[in-house]
Amino acid sequence: MTNKISRWTKLIQPQTTGTVFCSLTDSITRASTITFDNVEKLRNRDWRDKSQYSYGLQGTPITRRLERQLADIDEVAHGLLYPSGLSAICMTMIALLKTGDKVLMPQNCYGPALEMARFMSQHSGIEFSIYNPLDLSTLIFDKNTRLVWVETPGSITMEIADLPAIAALAHKNNAIVAVDATWSAGISMEVFKLGADLSIQALTKYQSGGSDVFMGSVTTADNAIHDQLYLTRTIFGIGVSPEDCYLILRSLPHLKLRYLAQDQSARKIARWLTKHPLVEQVLHPAFDSCPGHDIWLRDFSAAASLFSVVMRPDITQDDIDYAVNELNLFRLGVSWGGAVSLVIPYTKDQIFSGYEYKGCLVRFYIGLEETDDLIADIAQAFSKMNIRN
Ligand SMILES: *Cc1c(COP(=O)(O)O)cnc(C)c1O
Repeated sequence: MTNKISRWTKLIQPQTTGTVFCSLTDSITRASTITFDNVEKLRNRDWRDKSQYSYGLQGTPITRRLERQLADIDEVAHGLLYPSGLSAICMTMIALLKTGDKVLMPQNCYGPALEMARFMSQHSGIEFSIYNPLDLSTLIFDKNTRLVWVETPGSITMEIADLPAIAALAHKNNAIVAVDATWSAGISMEVFKLGADLSIQALTKYQSGGSDVFMGSVTTADNAIHDQLYLTRTIFGIGVSPEDCYLILRSLPHLKLRYLAQDQSARKIARWLTKHPLVEQVLHPAFDSCPGHDIWLRDFSAAASLFSVVMRPDITQDDIDYAVNELNLFRLGVSWGGAVSLVIPYTKDQIFSGYEYKGCLVRFYIGLEETDDLIADIAQAFSKMNIRN
């Protein structure tokens, strides 16, 4: 082969192993104990060396295969797996921060990430301060600022942050930039080219695609960051199930297709919602009504199928809850990334304190159903809210 193949083709091509049993799938490899040929090999084993296997918790061929695939999607050297997206977040903070350090957290991030920062400030003497991702002057660097957390777009309220500008500021101040890139899923934003030092994915979402697996990952090009994370993961005795890795590996070949198809469907629904009389504002990064839309245009090549709408200010929470209960195809539930469309109405106090919209917020996740059926479902539910008013 003369041309360099795309990372997406590479992702689909099977690993060529064996000459007798040539399956296209990965085998589930399980182990606690891993044995050695002789005492010398046992004594010389090195858990840091990923070409070796020393204990099942630190990796078996299938967990390493998934780590490699995720690193390849991001075109970086290293990938590490964790039992959930949240565990990847928490273990990153634990690995990179020590007493006296400070972390800057965006006000619109995934709530439990902020809880972790709060927990560490109470239990470990690690400081945190909260910044507004749309106002870089709120990023206050002190001598001890070690880590800048970025999530773009923000969970729930969908603001797009200027990652290259934040990364430049952070690096000037010798801080590491961690990006929770679950929304872009390794597809619509090239976080490392935009300045991230490490990227976190909740694989529970699009990578799984089945609403039935928990997993998280951290990818990085930086050897020192990887080694520190890997060491910490080992100290904490954290590993993932080979069966769960198999489920994620089974979904990865169609990750990009699903993402792009769901993007098209979600944009059609969001466009329809922009014209709906009960909707005040559509918070979808591909629409200019979303804060940071110009940055999305510059830095992203596509959009996930997760977005929110602000309802008209005269519509009460009760009205909205009533309408959401009337939806038939959209199911009420947290998490997303699977085939089934989801909806969540948020009360104002569930959203970060900087929320300045007058109306209540509803978040939609668009799954794989026919777009027109989903539009019809929202139309009938919202029309009942009209009647009730
Ligand atoms: C879901 C999610 C997580 C957490 O993932 P879990 O696997 O559910 O722990 C973290 N960050 C973002 C942005 C998410 O959407």
